Amino acid sequence: MNNALDWFWPLVESPEPIVAAHVVAGWPAGVHQTLLDLGFLVQAADADRVLCPECHGHIEEVIANEGPDGTVRFFVPCPEVFRVCVPIEARRRWQVNLEGVANALAATLGLTGRCTELSPRRLWRLGRTTWQGSPRDVMLARGLHWDDATTVRAVVVRGRKPIVFVPHTKPPDEFWTRRLPPVLALSRVATLGESGIEVEPLEIVAAIQDAEDRASKADAGPSKELKLMIRQQIKAEQKTSLTDDIFQQAYRQCGSMRAAAAFLSEQTGREVSKDQVHRALQRAGGAAAVLNADNSDSIQRPVASQRRDIHGKPIRQSKLIRED
Ligand SMILES: [Zn+2]
Repeated sequence: MNNALDWFWPLVESPEPIVAAHVVAGWPAGVHQTLLDLGFLVQAADADRVLCPECHGHIEEVIANEGPDGTVRFFVPCPEVFRVCVPIEARRRWQVNLEGVANALAATLGLTGRCTELSPRRLWRLGRTTWQGSPRDVMLARGLHWDDATTVRAVVVRGRKPIVFVPHTKPPDEFWTRRLPPVLALSRVATLGESGIEVEPLEIVAAIQDAEDRASKADAGPSKELKLMIRQQIKAEQKTSLTDDIFQQAYRQCGSMRAAAAFLSEQTGREVSKDQVHRALQRAGGAAAVLNADNSDSIQRPVASQRRDIHGKPIRQSKLIRED
């Protein structure tokens, strides 16, 4: 038996979570009915535009035609057969019952407190849970990868140590400007059980653990040595550009491109963009390569013991600075 939810989560994450009859017709048997039974899909207003029921090759606006007996019939024009009658079933549409999904999740997770919509059709506070003695808000957010997601993010981060569920698509780590919250994609962690939707508690524990591991790495913050190196480069030479080495170290120590850019801007007193960090990482073979090449030696090396030339003089800082 297929998992009906596999067809559901991408739909929940679409800007207009409505599905037309011809799409539903392409789903495996039982999927549509299961989603209706769960209350996750509910009937929406009939479509004004439909896929041609005859040739399935074009979408047309439906034309209403009142017969002499007063009954209304619907048609679409079709290049194949001129005019095609549109049965009422072909105009049916269903929409995601967002509230129903949020409530079902809150119930299966056994949360306390009321499930509340925080941002219309985008963000819900499902309730509260207690993790290792401290209360945490559990949220459901849609479209954290959309262009306007920063407004949703602003509400999420105001929550109490939030744990965030998304339907299908997690935002990249860089999306979070502060501490990374645990983010779980329902398409990966939710299953259908006897009594409806279920989420394996271990998945949540793993997500919390993962987020905490990454946060503690970032918390350690960039080392004093790196800050000193940056200051020496910038001040000694009055240069404006940083070496790739600095970009890479900042990235490793800050944990994300955004955080590295913010850190370098703060340290240099100049605007260093995320793109600049990105380009420096690309030159070094990409972010993954930079992380893999993590050389704690170069991070820990105190400035005093920097490379020296054969006469024991420190190598000119300009060698560390990339000329633009
Ligand atoms: Zn047609």
